[in-house]
Amino acid sequence: MTTLTQRLTLLHERMQTACTASNRKLDGVQLIGVSKFQPAESVADAHELGLTDFGENYLQEAAEKIRCLESKHLTWHFIGSIQSNKTKVIAESFDWVHTVDRIKIARRLSSQCPQGKVLNILLQVNIDHDANKGGASPEECIDLVKQMSNLPNLRLRGLMVILSQETDPRVGYETVAQLHAELKSALNPEFAAAWDTLSMGMTGDLEHAIAAGATMIRVGTALFGPRE
Ligand SMILES: *Cc1c(COP(=O)(O)O)cnc(C)c1O
Repeated sequence: MTTLTQRLTLLHERMQTACTASNRKLDGVQLIGVSKFQPAESVADAHELGLTDFGENYLQEAAEKIRCLESKHLTWHFIGSIQSNKTKVIAESFDWVHTVDRIKIARRLSSQCPQGKVLNILLQVNIDHDANKGGASPEECIDLVKQMSNLPNLRLRGLMVILSQETDPRVGYETVAQLHAELKSALNPEFAAAWDTLSMGMTGDLEHAIAAGATMIRVGTALFGPRE
């Protein structure tokens, strides 16, 4: 049986090789352990090995783990699709929300964010116009970014993407990186300073994402093994 330690070692090697190949520093790529369908004990084990950031897709499942692991002060990322009646729980429980794709959702997160808390958000872009998943179309992004950056209690940090199976990751991730740069230059300087995050790349394609400039990769299988 492969252990978590072995899988993490292999994963770090993949990340290091990818960084070296594109002349990047390993510490410029934040690893997010995607812990959906994994028990809280596995998250605790990964934390023992040095991981601090975890991603969850399903609120009920996440809420339990977050409560259970509260004393460890982990950083939690919401990476699932957002129903508007769930924004309050998301704003209360998570540090980052990667899947914001409508102004209505951003406004609700902003108004329901607990006092004194700053919620980091990413705009999810649907770069390949895939009707089966969320994300704003690339054409919508500029208006959304301008509106979202002005909302109180939120800090708009950049873009997130999930590529379609059919999209060549070498092309898809480069396209998102280019859009990320264009949007940054359209922002006011005060907001452009916080626009520093590109969340892209998973178990199957993280090398391509790192080559294109990902600053966060979201990895489940390569870290925790196959999901039930
Ligand atoms: C499940 C999931 C991942 C992790 O996928 P793996 O292929 O297991 O690494 C990353 N991002 C999102 C949005 C996911 O839902």
